[in-house]
Amino acid sequence: MVMRLVVMLVAAAACSSGSSSSAPPPSPAKDPGPPPALAAEPAKPATPPAPAQMTLAEAGIVPDWIDPKADPCTDFYAFACGGFTKTATIPPDRSSWGAIELVVKDSEDVLHTVLEDAAKSAPGDPGLGKLGGYYAACMDEPAIEHAGSAPVQPLLDIIAKVRDARTAAAAVVALHAETVFALFAIGPQQDFHDATQVIAGIDQAGLGLPDRKYYLEDKGTMGKTRAAYRAHVARVFQLLGQREPVAKASADEVMRVETALARLQQDEVVRRDPHMVYHRVDRAGLETKIAPSFPWGDYLAALGIPDVTAISVNDPAYYTAVAALLATEKPAALRSYLTAAVLRDQADLLGKAWVDEAFAMRKELTGEKELPPRWRRCLRRTDRDLGELLGQSYVKARFGGEAKARAADLTKTVLEAMRQELDHLPWMDDPTRAQARRKLDKMAYLVGFPDKWRTYGFEVKRGDFAGNVRAASRWELARQLAKIGKPVDRFDWGMTPPTVNAYYDPTLNELALPAGQLQPPFFGATFHPAVNFGSTGGGTIGHEMTHGFDDEGSQFDADGNLADWWSKPTKDKFAAATKCVIDQYANYEAVPKVKLDGKLTAGENIADNGGVKLAYQAYQAWRARQPTPPPHLVGGYTDDQLYFMAYAQSWCDKMTPEMLETRAHSNPHSPPMWRVNGVIVNQPGFGPAFKCAAGTPMNPGKPCSVW
Ligand SMILES: [Zn+2]
Repeated sequence: MVMRLVVMLVAAAACSSGSSSSAPPPSPAKDPGPPPALAAEPAKPATPPAPAQMTLAEAGIVPDWIDPKADPCTDFYAFACGGFTKTATIPPDRSSWGAIELVVKDSEDVLHTVLEDAAKSAPGDPGLGKLGGYYAACMDEPAIEHAGSAPVQPLLDIIAKVRDARTAAAAVVALHAETVFALFAIGPQQDFHDATQVIAGIDQAGLGLPDRKYYLEDKGTMGKTRAAYRAHVARVFQLLGQREPVAKASADEVMRVETALARLQQDEVVRRDPHMVYHRVDRAGLETKIAPSFPWGDYLAALGIPDVTAISVNDPAYYTAVAALLATEKPAALRSYLTAAVLRDQADLLGKAWVDEAFAMRKELTGEKELPPRWRRCLRRTDRDLGELLGQSYVKARFGGEAKARAADLTKTVLEAMRQELDHLPWMDDPTRAQARRKLDKMAYLVGFPDKWRTYGFEVKRGDFAGNVRAASRWELARQLAKIGKPVDRFDWGMTPPTVNAYYDPTLNELALPAGQLQPPFFGATFHPAVNFGSTGGGTIGHEMTHGFDDEGSQFDADGNLADWWSKPTKDKFAAATKCVIDQYANYEAVPKVKLDGKLTAGENIADNGGVKLAYQAYQAWRARQPTPPPHLVGGYTDDQLYFMAYAQSWCDKMTPEMLETRAHSNPHSPPMWRVNGVIVNQPGFGPAFKCAAGTPMNPGKPCSVW
């Protein structure tokens, strides 16, 4: 999907081509008014009072994850998580194992049972019937094997017609209508300059490696990965029936075309500047100036939006160059490029040989040793395509009672701390402060699950897995594109309820906390409040809230418009504070010899640091208000210590070196260890809490401080 500048708590699973549509999209729900703004009402107690006596485990800290031999003042991550990282092994079918994955596994186990039952019994309930049918079709490996490569044949037939620039463009149009986004992608986008309007956004896309750098640079293992990719693409062509030398030549052509695209595409650091990715050229600009040779009228008609004229592109020059590439590149090379794009998107819908080949490339990037079991892959597909149907069962099982109200209260308490912080922030002048407060007061939040569940208007057939996925993709694309020209739906969730993640959307000035993120060990109704504040209050809520004011979010105003509300002196101080964070993290290594990109990770690091600082203040303020404060000492640790331990333990995690490196090259999130220690060294509350002398590694002095 395109250019929704949402910032997530953790790296999401790669968003495959996304969306699309055959059945008519649902009519928009009647607007029930905006979601609750954070400023709406004062917070009630964020968590129920903790009993006077509790064990560490009852408080929500995992005792076995602590390494009592590690010195918290030397390496806090080793102290809070060493017991875990020294003993845990990453399951062979995963690229990481830790707190997040434990919650994911729990949700997978819950939903596995739901889907198996639904698949078996053909339930009367139409929702369960659809879930069961979809899942059963995905699990039906004999039928999938029997179909061979037939499911992709219609897409290959489209490509076979390419013989010049005109037919190549026609193939791109037809593939996009089937949600295979070669060269670029399209979706709805709030107009950065008028957030009340939804326009079409077109963005660069269509590379097989995770980032353009992989084609152009040789850092770390990039060269090896590039060679593995070339060999993988050649094997894909062999599976399609080409002889080995021909297949290798096809793969070389794919590499040449993708490398050319990579050169034309914007770097991820450049793309953190919203001004660089918003160009409201409109249809007239595309048709008359930027890429007149591309059939934009046919394109929009094929996508079901023939009348759309309001369009932004990430970079006009890219589309001029892509149109030129279609005209100058050999048709055979374009066919190879498009074929590789189709099979990258669709291999998992085919038989074992295709799935295994796709996995051979995947494991290069993730370090996974084995394919996850079929049921789990099918469960993830179901979550992707029918997520708000499936999510209802999850909510029933894991997010009942007062969970939603409690999480909302915690959110409000952190908000109050942020408001206090804004009032006293020394580097901010008063005019800017007034605007920042306005933005905070208008910040809205979604908690747990949607108030109104999405319905899915496409047909599911048992025995036609690929057909179901394609119908789902087309339906979702149509649903997305139908937003263009309509009022913004602030209640349309960007994540499903079981998702263990969260996000902030700057164009909506809204944060979303799915039920999956509000689970133990992150959040527990009976946990010590310091633990809930440390993990969920700081690590999640404060983190997302701070995104509204990070290097990217700070460029959008209270209403989600790209507008500069900063005075020059305050902006200069903000830039200096941001540079401190950039330089700090650029010194950290993800794996030996591969350092983090301080600029790419700046927004996430600012959010981590700000979130933990804010929620710490929120906890202090909350505790001071309690007639009966929660226990001060639990298992030998003070509640201030519990706060930081809870934050750290939410990042206890072991990750394959392959995944650590892939993320360092392409992902804005720092690795778990630096999400802890990089934050801890900047926390004014940490040194006193653990009595770390000034100058110790975790209390080094001269902290970076943005929020
Ligand atoms: Zn984030």
